[in-house]
Amino acid sequence: MSISIEFPDGSKKQFDDGVSVLEIAKSISTSLGKKAIAGKFNGELVDLHRALKQDGKLQILTANDDDALIVLNDTAAFLLAATLKAAYPKMHFGEGHSTADGFFYDTDNEDGQVTVNDLADIKAQMQALVKANGEIKRVFVSKDELLKAFAGDPYKESLINAESGVQIPAYQLGDFVDFGYRALLDKAGEAKIFELLSVAGAYWQGKSSNPMLQRIYATAFYKQADLDADLKRRAEIKERDHRTLGRELDLFFVDPKVGAGLPYWMPNGSTIRRTIERYIIDRELAAGYEHVYTPILANLDLYKQSGHWDHYREDMFPPMDMGDGEMLELRPMNCPSHIQIYQHHIRSYRELPIRIAELGMMHRYEKSGALSGLQRVREMTLNDGHTFVTPDQIQDEFKNILQLMMNVYEDFDVTDYTFRLSYRDPKNTEKYFDDDEMWNKSQSMLKGAMDDLGLDYYEAEGEAAFYGPKLDVQTKTALGNDETLSTIQLDFMMPEKFHLVYTGEDGQEHRPVMIHRGVISTMERFIAYLTEIYKGAFPTWLAPTQVEIIPVNLDLHMDYAESLQKTLAAKGIRVKLDKRNEKMGYKIREAQTQKVPYTLVVGDQEKNDATVSVRAYGSDKPSTEDLNVFVDAIVSEVKNFSRT
Ligand code: ATP
Ligand code: ZN
Repeated sequence: MSISIEFPDGSKKQFDDGVSVLEIAKSISTSLGKKAIAGKFNGELVDLHRALKQDGKLQILTANDDDALIVLNDTAAFLLAATLKAAYPKMHFGEGHSTADGFFYDTDNEDGQVTVNDLADIKAQMQALVKANGEIKRVFVSKDELLKAFAGDPYKESLINAESGVQIPAYQLGDFVDFGYRALLDKAGEAKIFELLSVAGAYWQGKSSNPMLQRIYATAFYKQADLDADLKRRAEIKERDHRTLGRELDLFFVDPKVGAGLPYWMPNGSTIRRTIERYIIDRELAAGYEHVYTPILANLDLYKQSGHWDHYREDMFPPMDMGDGEMLELRPMNCPSHIQIYQHHIRSYRELPIRIAELGMMHRYEKSGALSGLQRVREMTLNDGHTFVTPDQIQDEFKNILQLMMNVYEDFDVTDYTFRLSYRDPKNTEKYFDDDEMWNKSQSMLKGAMDDLGLDYYEAEGEAAFYGPKLDVQTKTALGNDETLSTIQLDFMMPEKFHLVYTGEDGQEHRPVMIHRGVISTMERFIAYLTEIYKGAFPTWLAPTQVEIIPVNLDLHMDYAESLQKTLAAKGIRVKLDKRNEKMGYKIREAQTQKVPYTLVVGDQEKNDATVSVRAYGSDKPSTEDLNVFVDAIVSEVKNFSRT
């Protein structure tokens, strides 16, 4: 019997039934036989020694193929488990395998969980196992045998029992067996380039009601240079991660004991936030918005009328039953509140567009697994705005909002983003307000406006708000996730639900259209984003401390330092004088780690000449400047949002 194998270039060849991937590779060329790592047969990863028994398409994988990394990382996960099983007799095992970003293994050690401090030891033992270069064999094992191999391990037992079939495909190295892999390398020695990265708690099978296991994260590569580059990339991500920087710069904290997703803003973070809030309010006032304050609590009926209760309930906190029939709800969005403001007066076409804005606090019950620092929280303050327009004003108002957005981006130096047009998923009538005509109209209007402006965008179904389509501005977080920063949303629905009207030129009542927009997102997400793009080195106008003064000698130079502090403070500069009895070099270094834009060192010469020795953040060469020149320069830098 022979089988027909088709190769990626379309050519076909006949082989004996039961031929292995390796034999096929060798038949093509000796060098391919040497380089072959595994195969992909009819879309499935198979190891080199797998006997092929049917016709099909075969790709022979070498180290250059992306899929070959899956095989390597699966092999490394298998070797890690083998190492741990030998080293920790009381360890239980959950799942472990390759991921898009390396591999992991979940463990639960009765004698105390593995910590980062154990990783060096485990690595050394794993290296020894790799060096011994044992053969990894694919075997078929009965459930009973596997249960025996993992006796007393509740997690593995439940994984084994969940397997279908009597004989389970597994891999064996010496006495160790494990299962659940797609294809492994045939020698332990081939997985010699790896690194154990970190440990973190992970719930068994991802459910928070299950026990917490300890997950060991790691990664493996075929070339040392690739591993080195990957470790460098990870270090850079960590350096940029707003959660790490938030701690180092003392910006904020979240304590799950007090409330997951409920951030506390420390004075430094609060200063950044206050500066941004003042900035955006001023910008919006200049753009014709009226800023208001409205309550974060309202009668549940308001959210029944708006449609939130029907379409957005999953994200809302449960209502508070006040006991006398009154139900109060924490608002998940500010739109119904701004509608109240609109409705409080009779509106005429002459007033439109009416632009209501607020730094509106809202609460959303985000899943605990989705919470991340300030990026995704449960209490947030949105730079929200709703503009009420006549149907013919939609296009112009859309452009006005985009223009405002672009101007603001420029001030913050935000340049890396893409536009996404977010449509409804027409099949999901539960999430989306059900009115085909309304959706078709508003989606094509939004697309038309973008096309008119000649802006590039991509389209995404199922990302719209329940009441209408959106233009979302997408950015990337340090971890590489896509997040929405700004948004503009077209809404014909809420004006209907609340019977909004204005008096037209004809004296009749007409329905306005609502545009929901957030220019700089929530304070939380925006500051998370800025922290990452600036790597914590905020531009001077945003920096919590803009100038740090360090006297060379606490006795001799304090009076000059204090007068300097006064001068700067009087100009509105956030200035700190370091009076601690510490070495000057230490103080300078600390000002650098706190990423203070300007450190001024003042001694005899500066005092006598009315100058300052200026060290700008990131440069190690101080320069001497006339005091007044420095003061004028920093004042103008703050005013213009950047150094010009
Ligand atoms: P997402 O898709 O990110 O959950 P959304 O589409 O539900 O957001 P909107 O109702 O449009 O969001 O909210 C306006 C803006 O508020 C979003 O564009 C986003 O920038 C920000 N935002 C939304 N949810 C959160 C959150 N949980 N934490 C911080 N910011 C958020
Ligand atoms: Zn809204």
